[in-house]
Amino acid sequence: MVTAANLGFPRIGAKRELKHAIESFWREETSQTELQRSASDLRAQNWKVQQDAGIDAIPSNDFSLYDQVLDTTLMLGAVPARFGTGADLSTYFAMARGTKDAPAMEMTKWFDTNYHYIVPEFTEGMTLQLASTKPLDEFLEAKALGIETRPVLVGPVTWLALGKAKTPGFDPLTLLPQVIAAYGDLLRQLAGAGASWVQIDEPILARDLSEAEVDALKSTYGALSDAGPKIMLTSYFDALRDNLALAAALPVAGLHVDLVRAPDQLDDVLAAIGDKHLSLGLIDGRNVWRADLTACLAIAERAVAAIGADRVQIAPSCSMLHVPVDLDHETGLDAELRGWLAFAQQKLTEIVAVTRALNGQKSDVAAAFAASDTAAATRRASPRIHAPAVKERAAGVTQADSRRATPFAKRILQQQAQLGLPDFPTTTIGSFPQTAEIRQARALHRKGELSDVEYDRFLKDRTRECVAWQEEAGLDVLVHGEFERNDMVEYFGEQLAGFAFTKNGWVQSYGTRCVKPPLIYGDVSRPKAMTVEWARFAQSLTPRPMKGMLTGPVTILQWSFVRDDQPRVQTCQQIALAIRDEVTDLEAAGIKVIQIDEPALREGLPLRHADWQDYLDWAVATFRLSASGVQDATQIHTHMCYSEFNDIMPAIAAMDADVISIETSRSDMELLKVFADFNYPNQIGPGVWDIHSPRVPAQGEMETLLRKAAEVIDPAKLWVNPDCGLKTRQWDEVRRSTAYLVGAARVLREKRAVAAE
Ligand code: GLN
Ligand code: ZN
Repeated sequence: MVTAANLGFPRIGAKRELKHAIESFWREETSQTELQRSASDLRAQNWKVQQDAGIDAIPSNDFSLYDQVLDTTLMLGAVPARFGTGADLSTYFAMARGTKDAPAMEMTKWFDTNYHYIVPEFTEGMTLQLASTKPLDEFLEAKALGIETRPVLVGPVTWLALGKAKTPGFDPLTLLPQVIAAYGDLLRQLAGAGASWVQIDEPILARDLSEAEVDALKSTYGALSDAGPKIMLTSYFDALRDNLALAAALPVAGLHVDLVRAPDQLDDVLAAIGDKHLSLGLIDGRNVWRADLTACLAIAERAVAAIGADRVQIAPSCSMLHVPVDLDHETGLDAELRGWLAFAQQKLTEIVAVTRALNGQKSDVAAAFAASDTAAATRRASPRIHAPAVKERAAGVTQADSRRATPFAKRILQQQAQLGLPDFPTTTIGSFPQTAEIRQARALHRKGELSDVEYDRFLKDRTRECVAWQEEAGLDVLVHGEFERNDMVEYFGEQLAGFAFTKNGWVQSYGTRCVKPPLIYGDVSRPKAMTVEWARFAQSLTPRPMKGMLTGPVTILQWSFVRDDQPRVQTCQQIALAIRDEVTDLEAAGIKVIQIDEPALREGLPLRHADWQDYLDWAVATFRLSASGVQDATQIHTHMCYSEFNDIMPAIAAMDADVISIETSRSDMELLKVFADFNYPNQIGPGVWDIHSPRVPAQGEMETLLRKAAEVIDPAKLWVNPDCGLKTRQWDEVRRSTAYLVGAARVLREKRAVAAE
């Protein structure tokens, strides 16, 4: 018999119940007991849903009050010293969020997803042991409800590989024996409690592994294979490739592979699998599309033919953490579009349908297969998805379209002549404080309690004030403030064809923060100009240059659920053409400086180095396609938030933006060295004010940062700006910081003038 498995269910609840429960606990409106009650209610509900759907291997310990990596850190007693020695809930939340005295642990993206985990910290001499029994507790909790679950654990090697050594030169892998011992204890306890299987996630198997990591995996599973329950070892987000032989040789009872991202690996996996169980990741755990069940079945049948039904399991490609909970709550979408989608709840029935079809119950699931066939057929043919004019235009794109007419060294002269800016020109990144007043007006407008006319007047007033204030503050290149924008991707998606938005399609981003990514379902085009009216209005308020402000194609792609019926590059190119039209329309409206933000460029990098260049090539080409339709005299800016630029400098330079602003203040300009060493040819604005903190830096600090920058970068190429947009700051902080920023630029300007005399 083929079995049906799930690797993880979204824990936030269909209506973000978990978020609300945790946040009210943080506000001290509810007790810890009440929070734990809400949490166990959610767990029970999720187990029940999966049981009712017919899932055989139901996960437990996939639940978390904040993050599964942080859970593991606490479970192993790896609490950094600044949080004391406790292992209770307040320690847990302190690690995630920081306290007055102890800064929070770092947070970063989980592989190539938009989920953020809390980065473990490793120090020389730390001792690790099994310090909590969360996986056991949740297994027993489910058991008490009559549901046998398969506990999910973050793999020991992945946990170590994702952490950071805080002692210089310390190798986290030296902690492995202690981690193995703790996992051994845990597995024995789970076996004692009746668990027959556990799921251990080692997604690092989809990355390039060091020799030390390979050895670590061997010794880990060598030691743990007999400790207790059978182990289903999972990898996901990419193919196993050269790690397949290693994974297949580990002494575990089962292997899970991602066949959505990497369908081509099946034959190799079947050849290598030996006598292990094989979990086929056939249903997309990362995206919202309804599965093509017939196609899934055909793949699964090959596996069954090769290794026999009893060793095959049908599963999502990865944990469903990355998709919204339930399509049934989605009231905003029309029936046709809904018919093309599946959220976590619907994906459970897809898993079960394929499983049952394999088990000789095809007639029982005929309706599910018929509906899936219909959805696949209508998607293939729908005029809502396929716009011949868009496809034709994209097919006609040439290399020349992705190139400015003239090299930077020449066009910058025309830009300087047109803009007449001083040395060390000052600007900001785009947004100004999104105050409670602005959020409230937006909410009222959405509810229909503030008319379009009133809302428009309100936004214009805020913009007018903001522009006047920037002039007074002495900034050189102004922005309109982005008051009309809710979010830098949603704002554009709402105006582009091919995008849809859900009402409840929430996905956990980190902790209690959830996002509702737009859904790109069809060919993308721009029915009409999106930002030109605002830009024209803002420019009319001032003689100084007003920056047009756009989100770049790669970032729009990266932060959306993307269609799966064509390669990402094609979708990105369509977005780029829409942005390109916006850029040239802005230029035609008299806007001389246009910023195209690409904060998500780096996070789109594939997990394997071998795939980087291909991605960077098309990401850069699509950015350039969006930016290259303008005259030489029009200045293109781009902006990126904190990124490790080290290994992608050639691509950053290849973007050929006239000016790039980057986040550097937290790294004390260290990052700039990379640009200096590379001899970055164009202009650059290293952030001199860390906008993530309410702290207002002194003018002297900014001067010091700028002087450091001027030591490594030609001062004629330097801009002066904050690290990022100011939307999360208070006006009071913005006023003081901007005054210092302008002051610092003036000081450097005078020094340079004196030096030149
Ligand atoms: N222009 C955007 C802003 O200022 C950029 C945001 C970002 O970099 N994430 O808000
Ligand atoms: Zn930024």
